[in-house]
Amino acid sequence: MNEKPNILLIYTGGTIGMVKDYESGVLKAFDFNTLLKSIPELNQLDCNIESVSFDEPLDSSNMNPKHWTDIAELIEVNYSLYDGFVVLHGSDTMSYTASALSFMLENLGKPVIFTGSQLPIGDLRTDAKENLITSIQIAALREKGKSVIQEVGLYFEYKLYRANRTTKINAEHFQAFSSLNYPPLAESGVHLKVYPEYIEKKKRGKKFKVHHKMDTNVAVLKIFPGINESVFESVLNIPNLKALVLETYGAGNAPTEKWLLNCLKNAIDRGLHIVNVTQCSGGSVIMGQYETSKDLRKMQVINGKDITTEAAITKLMYLLGNKVSPKLFKTIFETSLRGEMQ
Ligand code: ASP
Repeated sequence: MNEKPNILLIYTGGTIGMVKDYESGVLKAFDFNTLLKSIPELNQLDCNIESVSFDEPLDSSNMNPKHWTDIAELIEVNYSLYDGFVVLHGSDTMSYTASALSFMLENLGKPVIFTGSQLPIGDLRTDAKENLITSIQIAALREKGKSVIQEVGLYFEYKLYRANRTTKINAEHFQAFSSLNYPPLAESGVHLKVYPEYIEKKKRGKKFKVHHKMDTNVAVLKIFPGINESVFESVLNIPNLKALVLETYGAGNAPTEKWLLNCLKNAIDRGLHIVNVTQCSGGSVIMGQYETSKDLRKMQVINGKDITTEAAITKLMYLLGNKVSPKLFKTIFETSLRGEMQ
């Protein structure tokens, strides 16, 4: 009997599988199966690997919720056939896709590991091989017949993170991602160290469920000193807008000018869901800590706590897609659903 774990590689695009077009000098997606054949190391791994590729691999700047659904469906139809999934994805929007998938895949009992690279896999100095090989090893980790990782992770440059806690922070360094508000789930050095205390565990008896609908009537507004009334107001009055991530300063602070507070209050009264998320990469919104956030709390702005913007915007799409009732919306948003907030 073959007891090796079965891993499905899902190639969506990104630098990892790109090659340089020598005429124009730009990086373009390439046939991944051909590339895989050039990594003989994969045959040495103690698992069975199969791969499936997007028909048209994408630079992740072109990813949208339709592609997130495609990935979710690929995992759904193959869920019982494989022990783990590795999604190869461009790093630019990887944190958005991976956060979205963490919400779309409810009661996940198997690993879904996102990875990619800063240099193409065929490049001499590539970071792709380590990222790919260790991601597969992590996806194949089992203990007492169960997957060690049972959530959506993001592996890059020796660290496995909870995907919905990550942000791309660097376009140059191999360490492209950070997770300032949650520790790594595993680290790869001479040994592969897993930190079980930080890993989300599937609740017993709960059935794996895939959510397909994401509602894109959402926006992100980053406040800045000097933001003027007409800019602010026109964003809050976008027709059909249902929810907004408001990126505030520090611990969730915003200017206390009357026009701004009135505009927010009117929008909330009209039914717009507004989430307060900090512009800082680390730390949390604490509404009411400063005078500059006291009124936001009073008018029932949703507390985004220590959530990333990537997780906040995708959580909004997910909750709206699931038609969560306006009455419960604030409470549900403020509850951690997949370990995305404290
Ligand atoms: N532009 C690329 C992408 O996100 C960058 C990368 O793969 O790292 O698809």
